[in-house]
Amino acid sequence: MILEFDNCRLSNEQVLGEVDGGFEVMNTWLYATRITVAAMSVGRARRCFEYALNYSAERKQFGKSIGKFQGVSFQLADMITEIDAADLLTLSSAWKLDQGMSANREIASAKLYASEMLARVTDATLQIHGGMGLMNDYPIERFWRDARVERIWDGTSEIQKHIISRELLRPLGS
Ligand SMILES: Cc1cc2nc3c(=O)[nH]c(=O)nc-3n(C[C@H](O)[C@H](O)[C@H](O)COP(=O)(O)OP(=O)(O)OC[C@H]3O[C@@H](n4cnc5c(N)ncnc54)[C@H](O)[C@@H]3O)c2cc1C
Repeated sequence: MILEFDNCRLSNEQVLGEVDGGFEVMNTWLYATRITVAAMSVGRARRCFEYALNYSAERKQFGKSIGKFQGVSFQLADMITEIDAADLLTLSSAWKLDQGMSANREIASAKLYASEMLARVTDATLQIHGGMGLMNDYPIERFWRDARVERIWDGTSEIQKHIISRELLRPLGS
């Protein structure tokens, strides 16, 4: 839905917060909402991983389940390691925020890592499903498509890297 305001004038009393202070207010909560993107990415990746794991055990090729092939099993190992890492990064940044501590850098790291991890996990899950991954019989292609936006909204991956590096360099006067 697009809202358009033509010739719309408000008195200062009708403005929520300070006049010209909207960007600052937005920045205050924008950092925190990024945790929800990270958490959603972790949740989706775990659901996707269940499909990858089960399919690896069920699907048989060359006389054995495809999970027996190292090319597949190592992907599963990488996936669960990255999911757990993203989960802990997300929880730790949320904990810092809950404690009232500055957590901008940690939240940006969680959003960056979790959304990039989701892209890798959904892609690997689709690959493990082979041609079936692109069919409507499984929700995999939907997971894969939906994952793309997580690296864009609430600040692109490049912007998260900008925030992270800025927080590191600023105390050094750079
Ligand atoms: C489905 C969807 C829903 C959305 N919902 C909302 C919403 O509810 N509310 C809301 O406010 N916004 C929403 N957005 C907007 C979203 O937050 C922006 O699309 C996002 O922040 C990127 O901004 P942009 O599209 O203007 O890209 P641009 O800023 O034009 O960026 C284009 C490219 O340039 C790169 N780039 C830009 N600046 C830099 C820089 N300084 N350094 C390095 N690279 C840079 C970006 O990383 C990107 O790759 C939504 C977007 C989508 C796709």
